[in-house]
Amino acid sequence: MKIRKVGVLGCGLMGAGIAEVAARAGFETVVREVSEEVVEKGLEKLRGSLDKAVERGKLDAAERDKAWARLHGVVDLGALAECDLVVEAIVENLDEKRRTFAALDAVVKEGALFASNTSSLTITQIAMATRRPDRFVGMHFFNPVPVMKLVEVVRTLLTSQEAYDAAIEVVRAFGKEPVTARDNSGFLVNRLLVPYLLDAVRAYEEGVGSIEDIDKAMQLGCGYPMGPFALLDFVGLDTTYYIANIMFDEYREKRFAPPPLLKQMVLAGRLGRKSGRGFYEHPRK
Ligand code: NAD
Repeated sequence: MKIRKVGVLGCGLMGAGIAEVAARAGFETVVREVSEEVVEKGLEKLRGSLDKAVERGKLDAAERDKAWARLHGVVDLGALAECDLVVEAIVENLDEKRRTFAALDAVVKEGALFASNTSSLTITQIAMATRRPDRFVGMHFFNPVPVMKLVEVVRTLLTSQEAYDAAIEVVRAFGKEPVTARDNSGFLVNRLLVPYLLDAVRAYEEGVGSIEDIDKAMQLGCGYPMGPFALLDFVGLDTTYYIANIMFDEYREKRFAPPPLLKQMVLAGRLGRKSGRGFYEHPRK
């Protein structure tokens, strides 16, 4: 399984980051979105991220230009036909992911490896929508993708050794560090992180402390780089809400149940940085 060309589904927060990392690592990269308008917006964000890397001295301008030339934005799923690996980073919804992968399976060459960046769904239930569950893994990146070093590689009961080895190899080629997780909802990181984030919202609901003080407490008391509310705004309250519901459905444990305030904020459109307001205000630049 030699990977040369990478496809990415979704050019949102995570998809744009994954496409950037693949292109910077030297792979021809095709990123697919739902409409021309969203492709343009996603690529604009991606270009901004590449430019910022140059400004910060993390990337030289010539490398940026080469990475940019390797990137192609598309709407047509058929444009991914010749990809050796397709990483999916669309909305955290099982039906949507299954539908998309079934359509992808029909157009992408047989030997290609499929990967989902799902945070909380099990890989098995997505992989079974295709005829290649043996060539299907979880590849769970972290936000912001160009900066965060970790990728959880998830192998299911059906993942072949060859597919798993290829996934580990490509993660390393992306300049990331892999860890291997079993196909349990939330894998390693979200299994521990999600109850902590939800508990912070519950503590606030119960009046234990202010948003600012809870964040400050975890930063200065535990050495965390950011507090739970800053992190919730960063991840997206909608995404966290979907993840919590899926994990609660899976485990039926109260620690995964989304608190009412989280639901209210999502319904009110306070999604965090992406909408300009979450637990904090994020004025658009
Ligand atoms: P997002 O809302 O920023 O982006 C999702 C994008 O997918 C949107 O731009 C949407 O237009 C697009 N999309 C929807 N259906 C599509 C389709 N059929 N084909 C192509 N594009 C499609 O969401 P996100 O935060 O990037 O999350 C994406 C996935 O990554 C989710 O499964 C999420 O759980 C996972 N994830 C998120 C984080 C995080 O911190 N936000 C971290 C790790 C994993």
